[in-house]
Amino acid sequence: MKDLYEVLGVDKNATADEIKKAYRKVALKYHPDKNPDDKDAEVIFKEAAEAYSVLSDKRKRQQYDQFGHAGVGMGDQTQGYSGGGGGYHHMSMDDIFSQFGDIFGNDIFGSFFGGGGHGSQSIRRGKDLRATVELKYKEIVTGVEKTIRINRLEHCPTCRGSGASPGTSPTTCQQCGGAGRVRQMSQSFIFQSVVEKVCPICRGSGKVITKPCKDCHMGLVRKTISVKVKIPAGVESGNYMRLNGQGNKGESNQPAGDLVVFFEEEDHPYFTRDGEHLFLEAMIPFSMAALGGSLEVPTVEGGKANLKIPPGIQSGQILRMRNKGFPRLRGLSRGDQLVRIQVETPTGMNRKQKSLLKEMAENENKIKNPFKKIRL
Ligand SMILES: [Zn+2]
Ligand SMILES: [Zn+2]
Repeated sequence: MKDLYEVLGVDKNATADEIKKAYRKVALKYHPDKNPDDKDAEVIFKEAAEAYSVLSDKRKRQQYDQFGHAGVGMGDQTQGYSGGGGGYHHMSMDDIFSQFGDIFGNDIFGSFFGGGGHGSQSIRRGKDLRATVELKYKEIVTGVEKTIRINRLEHCPTCRGSGASPGTSPTTCQQCGGAGRVRQMSQSFIFQSVVEKVCPICRGSGKVITKPCKDCHMGLVRKTISVKVKIPAGVESGNYMRLNGQGNKGESNQPAGDLVVFFEEEDHPYFTRDGEHLFLEAMIPFSMAALGGSLEVPTVEGGKANLKIPPGIQSGQILRMRNKGFPRLRGLSRGDQLVRIQVETPTGMNRKQKSLLKEMAENENKIKNPFKKIRL
């Protein structure tokens, strides 16, 4: 994998501001609108987005400096945020923009590249919003419906989003005759050309509000609202969901943006997740290790399940509880729960226990091969 600093063309001591500037430069140069059908440009653009996502985050940058790609879950074997479905190579351009749009301002891309006909002056579609939901392991097992509170631009109830004072309605723009675009002659020394631009008066909508609504600006008011999200079972940190039309509403009834909901899983007190599998460690008494037995083990759902301990188990051995892990995102099966056994050496024994153990020691079998090479 490429060095992230190299991708952005900055040195390792670059300040946050220098990194931001560098990313901006690369992103503008290799923006897909500017390089249509250029796969190489797209790759560079995505790599830059990925590099920026790490280097702009103080914690991730530290981890990257210390451990390289593996430190931020970008290595090949890790299930981190690259392999977990949230990596930028899997994200669409829109997703990258919704995440990084902030540093460019909402419509710089639009004005530079004429993306979809939005000029810098053009009336705005609603901005995409981003939210993060924290999930408990037991919620991930079953899937869950969550209510998120977000602050977004809503349609003004007075004018119903039109931006025009009640009783009046927007009139056709005189400048462009309702087309939303105007033609402009540009004459240079040799060439004469016609340039089409977004109409500066109506900003592309073709309509002009003659009497604006007093309660809002362009039909929008800010409100905190609740959105319900149905989260499927089996998701993991870095996965996200795009809820179409749940972002900011657009000016003067232009289309709404989307809400992108990112998932973050809890740091469970004793379970560790690896994809669809769960790991935990269980201490068992020395007698159970020798004789075998049955151990009650917590499950990710919050219940308990019996785990059979075979006689003669050793510390470090791993027992598998099938289908007690997370459901796989695609498919009906579940992962496993893996229990690493640790045998507890008894301490603080009373007189009776000591004498029993002494008796046992006298009858004990010798360890056949007690010494082993340690491989460092
Ligand atoms: Zn209004
Ligand atoms: Zn106009």
